Amino acid sequence: MGTPNTKAAQDWLVKTYTSFGVTAKNEQYGTWRGWVRGHSHIDLIAPRQRTLEGQMVGYSPGTGGKNVDAEPILMPQFADSNDFVKWLPQAKGKLVMASVTKESCRPNSEWLTFSYPQSIARRDTANRQFATYGRGTGYNLALGGGSLSQRLDKAGVAGLITSRPKDEIGTMEIFETYSTVVPTIALSCEDYGLVYRLAQNNQHPKLRINLDGKLLGEQPVFNTVATIPGGAKAGEYVLLSAHFDSWDGSSGATDNGTGTITMLEAMRILKQVLPHPQRTIVAGHWTGEEEGEVGSKAFSEDHPDVVTGLQGVFNQDNGTGRIARVGAGGLPSGAQHLTEWLSKVPNVFQQQVGFTGQPMQPGGPAGGGSDDYSFSCYGAPTFGLGALSWDYNSVTWHTERDTYDKVVFDDLKSNATLTAMLAYLASEDPSRVTSIDPDSARRVVQPLLDSIAAANGGTPAGGRGAGRGGGRGGGGPRLWPKCEKAPRVTLQRLR
Ligand SMILES: [Zn+2]
Repeated sequence: MGTPNTKAAQDWLVKTYTSFGVTAKNEQYGTWRGWVRGHSHIDLIAPRQRTLEGQMVGYSPGTGGKNVDAEPILMPQFADSNDFVKWLPQAKGKLVMASVTKESCRPNSEWLTFSYPQSIARRDTANRQFATYGRGTGYNLALGGGSLSQRLDKAGVAGLITSRPKDEIGTMEIFETYSTVVPTIALSCEDYGLVYRLAQNNQHPKLRINLDGKLLGEQPVFNTVATIPGGAKAGEYVLLSAHFDSWDGSSGATDNGTGTITMLEAMRILKQVLPHPQRTIVAGHWTGEEEGEVGSKAFSEDHPDVVTGLQGVFNQDNGTGRIARVGAGGLPSGAQHLTEWLSKVPNVFQQQVGFTGQPMQPGGPAGGGSDDYSFSCYGAPTFGLGALSWDYNSVTWHTERDTYDKVVFDDLKSNATLTAMLAYLASEDPSRVTSIDPDSARRVVQPLLDSIAAANGGTPAGGRGAGRGGGRGGGGPRLWPKCEKAPRVTLQRLR
C-alpha cells in the first residue's frame, strides 16, 4: 500500500477491465506512507563469513546502498521501561536482536513424530526461557516493528534484527516496521538463531548490511472499482470482493493474487453471459487490507448507498484452493437465498462445497481479518468463499514463499466459474436478501451461534475459513462485529 508498484498494478487492472468492455476506475480514499524496496544484502563477516538468509521488512529505511558493519546485541529481560531506557546507551551503533528465538527450527510435527518424550520436554523448557527475552521494555514489537522500533530509532541503534519463522522449514513471515531512520531486517529462523548464539557466547559476531529502501512520504492511495451497470434494480448491488495489496517479502501470489484474478475472471465471464444484469455488479479490489481492511472500510463509508443496497458480498482471501465452503455470513435470509442458489448450480460444484440439498445454516458473520468484515459489520449480506488450504497458513501466508509457482490454476478456474454463477443468481434473484440490524444482532448472536454450534456437534459456527483462512485463530466470531472507522492517513493508524 502506498508504493508505486501498487499504483502500476492498479493501472494495469483498469486497462485489463477496459479490454473486457467493463468500466473500471481507481478511486482515491486517502494517503499512506509510500516506499520503494531496493536490494537487501546481509552477511555475517565475523567470526567467519556467511551470507545470511533475510531481507528488509516492509517500509524499512535502507543504508543508502552503502555497507554498514555492526555488531548484534541481545536484550536482557527488563524490570520496567526505566530499566530499558537505562540500557539503551549500550545499544547505540548496534544491531538490536528484537525477536524471541527458538531453539529448534524443525516443525512441531517432526518433534511429535520422531523425538524421545524427554526431548520435547527439554525443548519446551528452553522455549519458555526464550519467551522471557526482551520483556519489560514497555514498547511493543507488533508484527516485527511496533513502537519499539521507533524508540530504538531515537536511541541511535544501527538497526533491528527480527525473525518470524513459520512452523515449516525455510518459511518466514515478512511484515513491516515503523522505524523511519534505521533499517529493520528479518532473518530466517536458522540464521537468526546462529547470530543469537554467537552473540550469547561472546563470539562478537559482526554483520555487514547493505540495503536500499526509499521512504516517499504520504502518497495518494486508491481502490480499483469495476462496474457492470444494473437495469431494473440498479440501486441494488452484488459486490465481488478481493483485496489487491500484498506483503512484499515475495509476490503475494496466494494473498491475494489468486482472490484478485478469481474476481477479475468472474467479471469477464459475467460481462459475456449477463451483460445487462438486473442489479448492479461491482468488483472491489481493495488496498490496505493488510493494514486493517483500510480500503474496504473507506469504500463502505464513501458509498453508503452501496452498503444499504447490498444483495450480497462475495469475498475471497484464503489462497489458491478451490472453494470448499460457502458461508451465509450470519444472516437467516442469506442462508435461505444461498440454499436456493446452490440448488441451481451444477452438481460438481454442489459436491465441492458440500451442498446436499438441505437448508444452509446462517453461520456466523465475518469477524475481521478480511474485507467482508467491512460490510458484515453493517448487518449486510456477505457470503464467504472458503478455499481448500493448500498449506496457505503454514507456507504462503505473508511469507517469502508466496510465489507464482504456488498458484493452482485449475482450482482458480473453478472458483471464477462458481463465483460468476453465484453473482448471476444473486443479481437475477426476484427477491432481496434481508440485512440484519447489527445492534439487535449484537444481542442475539451469541445464543444464535451457540445453537448452531450445538447442531453441528460442537464445531464453531461459521466454520474456519468460511470467510477467510489467514493465520488468525479458528472458529467464527462470538459477537456481531462493530464497524471501525477507516484510517485515511498513515498517522491515524500508527499508535
Ligand atoms: Zn489476504
